[in-house]
Amino acid sequence: MSEFNELTQAVNTFIEDRDWKQFHKPKDCAISLTLEAAEVAELFQWKSDKQMEAMKQEGEAQDDLADELSDVLFWVLAMAHDFNIDIKPAFLRKLKKSAAKYPVEKVKGNNKKYTQYDD
Ligand SMILES: [Mg+2]
Repeated sequence: MSEFNELTQAVNTFIEDRDWKQFHKPKDCAISLTLEAAEVAELFQWKSDKQMEAMKQEGEAQDDLADELSDVLFWVLAMAHDFNIDIKPAFLRKLKKSAAKYPVEKVKGNNKKYTQYDD
């Protein structure tokens, strides 16, 4: 187990203390993860570039974003635990795949999708 174990344990304790495991079907956990990600997006909805930049300096905006990112992480950790996924090595493995898909020499300073590269 990785150092995410402490966070995963905290998530599990939170769930078990409330006897909510019975409600945590994979579909519902995935929906919850998606909804929490939408709450992150909602914080930026209709904001101008200037307003979003200002949010980086506003304590309340930072707290709101921290809360919603934490809600996303909660479901990531809960689902990873339920599916016996050690999230740290899984994350690093996926990052390596992404690095292979987006090699620095091809994509640096370029935001095209990997299917749109000029070879
Ligand atoms: Mg939330």
